[in-house]
Amino acid sequence: MPQGKIVKALSGFYYVQDGERMIQCRGRGIFRKNKITPLVGDEVEYQADNDQEGYILEIFGRKNELVRPPICNVDQAILVFSAVEPDFSPALLDRFLVLIEANDIEPILVISKADLIPSEDIKEKVLSYAKDYQNAGYKVLLTSTVESSVEHDLQPILDNKISVFAGQSGVGKSSLLNVLRPDLDLKTDDISTHLGRGKHTTRHVELIAAGSGFVADTPGFSSLDFTGIEVEDLTYCFPEMKERSGNCKFRGCTHVKEPKCAIKEAVDNGEIPQYRYEHYLTFVEEIKDRKPRY
Ligand code: GDP
Ligand code: ZN
Repeated sequence: MPQGKIVKALSGFYYVQDGERMIQCRGRGIFRKNKITPLVGDEVEYQADNDQEGYILEIFGRKNELVRPPICNVDQAILVFSAVEPDFSPALLDRFLVLIEANDIEPILVISKADLIPSEDIKEKVLSYAKDYQNAGYKVLLTSTVESSVEHDLQPILDNKISVFAGQSGVGKSSLLNVLRPDLDLKTDDISTHLGRGKHTTRHVELIAAGSGFVADTPGFSSLDFTGIEVEDLTYCFPEMKERSGNCKFRGCTHVKEPKCAIKEAVDNGEIPQYRYEHYLTFVEEIKDRKPRY
């Protein structure tokens, strides 16, 4: 039986891409029985009645599942943060990183609008942040849509993967996608259309082909609260802490007040940036202050 990937779901139809072919499929009753609904991102087995229409017969196991946008098997989140306009914000970045890490998705940091950096001072500051995040274990890319490097630098990262873009509105997510898919002519600066419309739950999501990869046309992680994340989970959302936490004296160390804490030592000797640790402490407080949800 042929296999493909669901790239669009609309009005009860699932559009399955299989190489060059796009088959408009219906689900069979089997899904209702198993309480599983096909999702954009699903790898499926289908039966084609002809060149255009068919039925989904089986859904293969999912790697992960996002609620907003409704999509599964996401390999990575392209986290777009502008160098300026708006200014680079490590506090907001760390919040996004925690949410992405908590979903077991690999974040890739794209620092956009490099061409707008107004001075050497600011450039140095941005580059120093880039280095910190690289040291923490992240892939970091400095981009600009007015220079031609996007296709060269970003496209290979997207190849063979399903990616979702994330980041504040106005940072340049649509613009980056426009460089890769100029034929789509996504509107920029218009948050009510295309990539900006993350809050509309009824809106359908679609995977856009970019090279040999796929990108969701709706940004992910638009809700930035830590619902579902516990203090114990936080260490695992900071790779440089996760890597060192085995060296803390106490098992289950939260790296706040415990003695002989490997994380605090690493902060003191400059291996972990002070600001990353401070954001961690802020998040710990935020999670502790969270009203219990009964
Ligand atoms: P989105 O809301 O994240 O999708 O952001 P947009 O792609 O709509 O971009 C917001 C604004 O920033 C638009 O006016 C873009 O033209 C501009 N912009 C985006 N990327 C760049 C860039 O690399 N350089 C410059 N100079 N402007 C950019
Ligand atoms: Zn510790």
